[in-house]
Amino acid sequence: MAQAVNCQIVLASRPEGEPSVENFRRIEVPLPEPVAGQVLLQTLYLSLDPYMRGRMSAAKSYAKPVEIGGVMEGGAVSRVLHSRHPGFAAGEIVQGRTGWQSHALSDGTGLLKVDPKLAPISTAVGVLGMPGMTAYTGLLNIGQPKAGETLVVAAATGPVGSLVGQIGKLKGCRVVGIAGGADKARYMQTELGFDVALDHKAPDFAAQLATACPQGIDIYFENVGGHVWEAVFPLLNDFARVPVCGLIAHYNEEGPRPGPDRLPMTMRAVLSKRLNLRGFIVSDFAAQADDFRRDVAAWLKDGKIKYKEDVVQGLENAPAAFIGLLKGRNFGKLVVKVAD
Ligand code: NDP
Repeated sequence: MAQAVNCQIVLASRPEGEPSVENFRRIEVPLPEPVAGQVLLQTLYLSLDPYMRGRMSAAKSYAKPVEIGGVMEGGAVSRVLHSRHPGFAAGEIVQGRTGWQSHALSDGTGLLKVDPKLAPISTAVGVLGMPGMTAYTGLLNIGQPKAGETLVVAAATGPVGSLVGQIGKLKGCRVVGIAGGADKARYMQTELGFDVALDHKAPDFAAQLATACPQGIDIYFENVGGHVWEAVFPLLNDFARVPVCGLIAHYNEEGPRPGPDRLPMTMRAVLSKRLNLRGFIVSDFAAQADDFRRDVAAWLKDGKIKYKEDVVQGLENAPAAFIGLLKGRNFGKLVVKVAD
């Protein structure tokens, strides 16, 4: 039986620097009734992703911020509870951008049906969803991996980085994975099969990275920025490719960091080494969604790639889990199990 209320997590206030649980508020509103052409969805898994930090801020970006009092934005895997839409039947599993709430109405726009026989349904927001597509399109289009090249990736146990590294291995690259802590480093080496696994929290991390890349770096898949980028930058080879995917080390910053202006030196290296740094948003490659699903589903089925999920129980725990994600407390794709 469906509960009679819709539980929602709304943005209570905009964070200054690091978000806190006070920036979120849990409210209950009456369960909506679908009208003709709509479906009522029950959220099963809510995806928590780093980009949500940007939606909490009013600063200009590629997407509009969530309004104060608005439901936090996010992707989710849901069950169709009640359908008045000809394209969807009650009981079907779908994926859509329905937000941090237990239920949602949809007119079907952007809803994708999920095949529960293909893989566990939560993967529709993970390895077979937006983060997987980010890794696949960013690496193949911009990184252009070739056998024998050195590929470096950070946040390498998360859904984007872990797939980047594994596709890099499938393409014959030597893969150096970077993550925070010994457990994550062990996982990269024993489970993901990366050639070298480094802990970016080690005091001599930059020296370890230089030792791990004796031939320099041909591809750096940029997920984090910060001290990892500083260690990578001097090691980039001529004509290196840098898909600039995410800069999580800077998402909580309110302004420029103090210190010397490194921009002229950076641009000089971009010029003299003919570096190719290209930022991208996954939606830029929307036309490749079918290729992505075909290839990654096949690799999964053949056991050529692995994925790891970090499942948090209960919608009410989403704010704390999200705050932890920005600090690396997650180990694998972070999802909230909202209902059975
Ligand atoms: P993850 O699950 O990997 O979580 C983020 C990880 O970043 C944390 O677990 C932590 O891992 C690491 N991290 C946090 N702060 C730092 C820091 N200061 N230095 C180094 N590492 C840090 O996230 P995703 O795989 O979902 O996303 C990875 C990146 O890709 C993010 O930057 C995200 O914004 C970006 N992204 C971009 C998209 C696009 O369209 N351009 C789409 C999807 C994601 P650890 O413990 O290893 O440090």
